[in-house]
Amino acid sequence: MNSRQKEIFKISTEENTRKRNCIIDGCNKKAINSHLLQRNGILKNISNNGHLVERKLKDPFKWAKNDEISEFREIGLKKAFSLPLMCSKHDSEIFKPIETPPLDFENYHAQLLLSYRVTLAEIRKKEIVVDTYTRIINSEKITLRNPENDKAFLRGTKYGMKDLTQFKKLIEAEIKTPTNSFHFEYFEFSKFETYASAIFSPPKTFTFGSTNPEKPYEQGFIHVIPLEDGLKVIVGYHKQYVNRYLKKFVKKWRKTNNDNLSEQLSQVFCRNIENWGTSPNMYKSMTKENIELFNKYFYLSEILPGFMIPKLNLFEK
Ligand SMILES: [Zn+2]
Repeated sequence: MNSRQKEIFKISTEENTRKRNCIIDGCNKKAINSHLLQRNGILKNISNNGHLVERKLKDPFKWAKNDEISEFREIGLKKAFSLPLMCSKHDSEIFKPIETPPLDFENYHAQLLLSYRVTLAEIRKKEIVVDTYTRIINSEKITLRNPENDKAFLRGTKYGMKDLTQFKKLIEAEIKTPTNSFHFEYFEFSKFETYASAIFSPPKTFTFGSTNPEKPYEQGFIHVIPLEDGLKVIVGYHKQYVNRYLKKFVKKWRKTNNDNLSEQLSQVFCRNIENWGTSPNMYKSMTKENIELFNKYFYLSEILPGFMIPKLNLFEK
């Protein structure tokens, strides 16, 4: 590692590990490690020896040209699917309805809470990226190789944060006074050892930026929840901020059954989201060839918006 890489690594590590405050407006308490899906009632259901396997972004300084930007990594239950998000009071108070049995994810309020938590998490993740990149760009020890690109990336991330903050407000208002402004659909499948929770924007080619800065880009939601008796999937969007892509996305789930579930999940994980994981056993059953293809397609869809990903079933035995 040269001195430039060392400095980037130092900043990135500091920003990713430093204590952050609770993300709830007006709360100054320190954030604890919040799980996006409940650790004991949900994630534990598919763990092996207290472990799960997740997609993790590789450290940017490790990126080589034409290399994958994320990888599969085994992770302990305590750290799985979590980040410093809220203080313990807000974490337990706000999400009590989706943490205490009986868990009912057909319920609109529960669906809103799942979507709220992942929206907060996405804002926090972007905040960490903004803090890291701001320090890198301003560092006197680092000569930027492509300052315009770095600055454009930082600007893009800030725009993304603005959209998410608008969605956060929309969900908060809906939780407080439900007006049925979000559309969610609920599906049940046999046991399948994966989990996910994500807010995502449709590929850029399908997103038509409004000239009105008050109007956020469309966003979709997906929650993949492994319960003891099977897999539950919730997909949805805000009725006012929806486009053709998101409607088609939901429609595709209506046609999904136990036979084509693994194919459908592979597509979603490859195209739409990086916030997902699987059991170590399931991971071990994936073929090396499929993992390599998955990494390649994921990378291509990141650098080539609108890239049509060939059919791939990551979970085929
Ligand atoms: Zn708090």
